[in-house]
Amino acid sequence: MATDSKNPPAEGTFTDVPEGEIESNWDEVVDKFDDMKLREELLRGIYAYGFERPSAIQQRAILPVIKGHDVIAQAQSGTGKTATFSISILQSLDMSKKECQALILAPTRELAQQIQKVLIALGDYMQVECHACIGGTNVREDMRRLEAGVHVVVGTPGRVFDMINRRALRSDSIKMFVLDEADEMLSRGFKEQIYDVFQLLPPATQVVLLSATMPGDVLEVTKRFMRDPVRILVKRDELTLEGIKQFYVAVEKEDWKLDTLCDLYETVTITQAVIFCNTRRKVDWLTEKMHAREFTVSAMHGDMTQQERDVIMKEFRSGSSRVLITTDLLARGIDVQQVSLVINYDLPTNRENYIHRIGRGGRFGRKGVAINFVTSDDVRMLRDIEQFYNTQVEEMPMNIADLI
Ligand code: ADP
Repeated sequence: MATDSKNPPAEGTFTDVPEGEIESNWDEVVDKFDDMKLREELLRGIYAYGFERPSAIQQRAILPVIKGHDVIAQAQSGTGKTATFSISILQSLDMSKKECQALILAPTRELAQQIQKVLIALGDYMQVECHACIGGTNVREDMRRLEAGVHVVVGTPGRVFDMINRRALRSDSIKMFVLDEADEMLSRGFKEQIYDVFQLLPPATQVVLLSATMPGDVLEVTKRFMRDPVRILVKRDELTLEGIKQFYVAVEKEDWKLDTLCDLYETVTITQAVIFCNTRRKVDWLTEKMHAREFTVSAMHGDMTQQERDVIMKEFRSGSSRVLITTDLLARGIDVQQVSLVINYDLPTNRENYIHRIGRGGRFGRKGVAINFVTSDDVRMLRDIEQFYNTQVEEMPMNIADLI
């Protein structure tokens, strides 16, 4: 990574900065919401939502965003990024104007809807109006809603661009632009659409970018569209596997996984579980096999229509479905509070995804259990994961049900 001559790295740290990580240039930490000078109604909303203390990223990033700086925040999902920019936006809104003042882009429809929910919940005492502008929904209804006036819009790049182009979404009053999971968005080929949206925003718009990793595409965005950004890195080790019991089941051969899962089914349904496979086809295959054996499971992946996806998420959130089989793509960033058990039917193909899948269950003191199905071919990958995260994955004990 190029060094920034205006912001030389702190002594001795430069050589330690691994590739793909930004260097922080901001060290102010505010460790209480009470000390952030937030508006009263917002503070009430935060506490009512159940937050007591800001997370590491919130302690560092909320204030510079509120102060109006362009901000790059690098942190894994599950660290509280959504609330970081939601709180900052809510603090910065002029509630007397029912015009779109903040625009958030997210890589998936589910994530956009989830952000909308968080924003509305945190802004409950402010009567904030936030609309989710996502593909797969009725265009006319979207236009009607936008024309009626909202304070904040969160959406996926394509639909948002469409709405600005049709002038249903007016960009004149937008003063803050948030790119959530920028790495994920750019890797999904949204680059042109994001650049197009940028061109339509007022030149003075503040830009806030959140990303778990910093590949070239993301750095390009930061260079092209951001002014003297504050950079905040929350390191991997602040995202912990602590409190999560991790186990493996040695299945030897791929063929044995299915029986192993069926054996575990009763245990699994004590709570709610997410089961990860590496491909969409495998998700479909496993779902079919489980149904054929009369086990109740639901499945979700990117090939499904928006309506199907909505129904499945709703059922899972409400608890009426208890086992969800899915891929990494959709799991990323999706927060399912009550999930305390994750099964890796397939080990993830890269080690970063391991913490995306497992890490969610253990946020903010929530406990969790992870079970990895490991064939002989997977043993090396599992060792690699253990080493990378400096953690231990033990053989699953007989009394696993007691641990869930
Ligand atoms: P990210 O956007 O980084 O993936 P989220 O903002 O979705 O992370 O937060 C992950 C989980 O942690 C959510 O369940 C959220 O409600 C919870 N959370 C976020 N901030 C706090 C906080 N300050 N205190 C307690 N829980 C929090």
